[in-house]
This record gives sequence, structure tokens and C-alpha cells, in this order.
Amino acid sequence: MQVPLSQPDIGDAEINAVVDVMKSNILSLGKKIPEFESSLANFVGAKYGVAVSSGTAGLHLAVKSLGIGKGDEVITSPFSFVSSANCVMFEGAKPVFVDIDPNTYNIDIDKIESAITDKTKALLPVHIFGHPVDMHRIMDIAKKHNLKVIEDSCEAIGASIEGKCVGTYGDVGVFAFYPNKQMTTGEGGMLVTDNEELAKIWMSLRNQGRADMDLWLAHPRLGYNYRMTELQAAIGVEQIRRLQGILDRRHRVAELYQDMLCDYDKIILPKLPTNGTISWFVYVIQLNTDYDREQFMRDLREKGVGCRPYFTPIHLQPYMVEAFGYKKGDFPITEQISEKTVAIPFFTQMTEEQVKYVTDSIKKLLGD
Ligand SMILES: *Cc1c(COP(=O)(O)O)cnc(C)c1O
Repeated sequence: MQVPLSQPDIGDAEINAVVDVMKSNILSLGKKIPEFESSLANFVGAKYGVAVSSGTAGLHLAVKSLGIGKGDEVITSPFSFVSSANCVMFEGAKPVFVDIDPNTYNIDIDKIESAITDKTKALLPVHIFGHPVDMHRIMDIAKKHNLKVIEDSCEAIGASIEGKCVGTYGDVGVFAFYPNKQMTTGEGGMLVTDNEELAKIWMSLRNQGRADMDLWLAHPRLGYNYRMTELQAAIGVEQIRRLQGILDRRHRVAELYQDMLCDYDKIILPKLPTNGTISWFVYVIQLNTDYDREQFMRDLREKGVGCRPYFTPIHLQPYMVEAFGYKKGDFPITEQISEKTVAIPFFTQMTEEQVKYVTDSIKKLLGD
């Protein structure tokens, strides 16, 4: 049996919606973008949504619109996808890392305050693998030190703390729709906020710094082309319609894994949040044996089971080392955990039979 690591859940509704856009002749800057924006904002409980070409583009606009630049510092997690730290560097600011909590893999909130300096402008928590960061504590720290908050919610659409969705606690929340995310538009991202001023700035920045649509060649500020197409937005609208069902189904797949692996002590399973709801993005296990991780992944692939190391510490990426002099040993928990974690197949339509094949393959390799 072949079980892929990930697979998008695209149905006839998405296909038909794209065809309709193609036939309409309006492929960009049409009605689908605002429809997608309001339906996503509504789903997560934000006032405004602004669609962009990727999650990374969204994070960049978030950093830029909050006035973060040269000489500034932003506190974030080293155990993430590079994008969450790169967006700070795009504007010439420095990502300052704080090590993670070994249970949640999220930034260790107890260690944040000691990393704050007079250059710190913002906190950028990442809801890693869809596990919600305790945003009440983040917002308390931000208020106390007068910091902005950007939530990298790119892996966490629908995750919540005490019933309020992540992405709606901070000044800005950013979501992403690459095909391995819970929902996809092929490529794409969305910023959300309750701040009308910020939403307007993002709409201008994504569209070459234009003032508004009536003044086509008026560019009061330096902007980008970070626009999403109508085709992507049409897919997004259909995905939001089905999103609760998608998230529920992913919970079910995670439960199947949990049921089949809970008594197996050679693997540490993902922990559930204590005061919130996870939105399952990937299923990441931690090896609890001496079996070499690279060998384990080679052997698993040999059996037709997709897998990948998630994540390599950001602070040890060559360009980060070069720019800021980070070194091995700086964030020991991140480094230890990232050597043992493996993402195994996880997607919305995954069947019980597929989960069983994956877990049986793991048990065969690691032994009883
Ligand atoms: C996916 C992701 C992003 C954004 O990725 P894009 O490919 O640019 O859409 C940002 N941060 C994290 C943590 C992600 O997983």
C-alpha cells in the first residue's frame, strides 16, 4: 500500500467554482475575493479579512503595516516553518528566538519576558501544527510591555482557546492555504483583524500601494503584487463552506492514530491543549527509542509510507547563522525535539485502513 504524507481535499464544488470563474472572464480583482474574505473572517470571528498570494506574503504585510523595521526585534519560535522568522527579516528587523515547551512544541511563554529588550516591537507566536498558543498569556505580556502581536495561524485555522479562534487575539492573524494545509486555494493566504485601518493598508500594499480602485494609477506608497486570483478565491469559498466538516474529519483521523498508538511506548504522540481546541494540520510523532531517525524515515518510505522531518530549527539554517550568529546549543529543547520528530501521513480523506497500515508499519520497524 502507498500512503502519501499529505493530500488536498478537492471536490466537484471547487472544480465547478473554478470553471465558473474561467467562463466569467474576470480572473482577478472580481467578486470572489471579497466573498472569500468575508466568509473566512466570519468563520474565525474577525471583522476584516484581506486575501493575499501566500501565507508568507500575509506575514510580510503584517510586519510592514505594524511599522516594524531596521533595528527592531520580534520575538518568535525557532521550531517553525522558516516563513514565520523570514517575514521579520524582510523588513530589516531581527527575529529573536525563545525556546519551546517540550509538550506543546509552541513557544515557551515562561521564557518570553527575559528575551524582551528596549528594541522589542512585537511578539509573533506560531500555533505550531495547529496547537493553539495560550493567547491570554501572550496578550497579557504584550499589554504589559506595549508590544504588537502577530499570530502566525498558518497551521491552525479553526483552532481556538476558550472558544475564540486563534488569529483573532492579536493585532493581526495570518492564515495560509498551501495544498498541505487544512484547507487550500493552491497557493494563498489571508490576514485578519478587527482594525479597519490595518485592513485598508493591506489592501493597498497587496495591490502595488494603490490608493483605491477608482484611482488606478495613484500609488501613495510603495506596494507589492501580493494579490490572490479569482480562481483561488473561488476554491477558497467552497473550502470554507466545507471547513467545519474538514476539521471534524481530521479530528477523527487523529483519533484513529491515537487509538492505534496510545499503548505503544516507542513513540510519543502529539499532546492535546488543556484549555483549547487543536486544528489538526499534520500528525507529528516523536521517536522514543534509539532507532536512528533518518533510517526510520528511509525504512518507512520503503514500505510506501510518506514521512518527513518536522521541523529543522530555524536558528540553525545557514542564512540565519550568517545574519545573527545563532549556534547549536542556543535553543536546546528545539534542537533535541527536532531530531526526533517525524510527520507521518495525515489528510482529510485518510481511511481507517490507511491509518492501520501506517501504524502497523511503524510497529513492525520499531518492534514491540
Ligand atoms: C505554511 C506556513 C506559512 C505560510 O506558508 P506559505 O507557503 O507562504 O503560504 C507560514 N508559517 C507557517 C508556520 C506555516 O506552516
